Amino acid sequence: MAKVKGLRCRECGREYPAEPIHVCEFCFGPLEVEYDYDLIRNTVSREKIERGPKSLWRYVDLLPVEEPKVGLTAGFTPLRKAENLGKVLGLKELYIKDDSVNHPTLSFKDRVVSVALSKAVEFGFDTAACASTGNLANSVAAHSAQAGLNCYVFIPANLETQKIYGSLVYSPTVVAVEGNYDDVNRLCSEIANELNWAFVNINIRPYYAEGSKTLAFEVAEQLGWRAPDAVVAPAASGSLVTKIWKGFKELRMVGLIDGKLPRVYGAQAEGCSPIAQAWKEGRDYIKPVKPNTIAKSIAIGNPADGIYALAVTRESGGEWETATDEEIIEGIKLLAETEGIFTETAGGTTVAVLKKLAQRGVFRPDEVVVVYITGNGYKTMEVLEGHLKDVVRIKPTLADFRDKILVRVP
Ligand SMILES: *Cc1c(COP(=O)(O)O)cnc(C)c1O
Ligand SMILES: [Zn+2]
Repeated sequence: MAKVKGLRCRECGREYPAEPIHVCEFCFGPLEVEYDYDLIRNTVSREKIERGPKSLWRYVDLLPVEEPKVGLTAGFTPLRKAENLGKVLGLKELYIKDDSVNHPTLSFKDRVVSVALSKAVEFGFDTAACASTGNLANSVAAHSAQAGLNCYVFIPANLETQKIYGSLVYSPTVVAVEGNYDDVNRLCSEIANELNWAFVNINIRPYYAEGSKTLAFEVAEQLGWRAPDAVVAPAASGSLVTKIWKGFKELRMVGLIDGKLPRVYGAQAEGCSPIAQAWKEGRDYIKPVKPNTIAKSIAIGNPADGIYALAVTRESGGEWETATDEEIIEGIKLLAETEGIFTETAGGTTVAVLKKLAQRGVFRPDEVVVVYITGNGYKTMEVLEGHLKDVVRIKPTLADFRDKILVRVP
């Protein structure tokens, strides 16, 4: 494949062929896809992309897949101007990149999985698997069903019921591991060494992670081919944050945008914030933590890409901020009440962090700010119990309607 040169170790720079491998044999650093940007510069254009499918596959020239095989509808989600939320926060040019309506499983994971499983099919695997905090399992199960792959998803046993059903409906084998995500991930790394399965976020990880770049590509195109001034995104493993940054850099490298790149701000739940804590303490290494937060989809205590995500905020001029569980609920409600978007706990975290950053004055009022909403609220409904208005119950009579409802109208 001409556009992909191979894989390269992020630490020592050693090069490898584009195979289903993910760590450097010499230094155990993570491997990353390397492209021939000179070639890509000569083959891509805004016009060609605009004529492409209304999915993330319009950017196939910048993805490590020859021919999409599965997940043909993922991506190209709405970028909405957030007038109401912007007014509350004092931001005139606030936009929401709304992956809560991504297809087919309502989170940004459909991007990474469509790329990972297209690659897995290209490699000839017959079984897909993943270690997941919930959304990844949903997406791997759905895409495996589409592709006719056997599927095993591994999750922490304490996940939200909605997320468990959101996998089970596609009939994969769901393995609930008695432990947190970091335990699940460690187990899966051991299994991946034993079996010839496509673990999308282990041996296929270099390809999987590239799917997140499309969140930068789409935002730039939807803004009329320019980068915003700032973006705010949540972090679990930290991969998404690093790939949003890589995506904007690539667009500039191949000549699709010019000018300044955005400042990248990272959001974590206070109960699981190893990257944000490193930032606040000025460390360039991560101290693993034990997750304790309602934001389960981003509860990774030992984030694989943590140090690279830290480096992105440093390089781009951004920062890290955290939100408590209470602030996360408030964030979910604020987005719903102002913009009519129902997001899950990861989105609540991101909105809460956006609010704190805006209140601290890190954005100028006229800056173009994009907030990434990465998941759907129908998957984490149980966290809202006790936090919403009560339903008003009435008899089916006009009198009762008057007594119980109209008397309250001011
Ligand atoms: C997985 C996930 C993230 C973060 O992903 P990383 O790339 O691991 O940092 C953010 N939001 C949601 C809803 C997710 O499911
Ligand atoms: Zn290496």
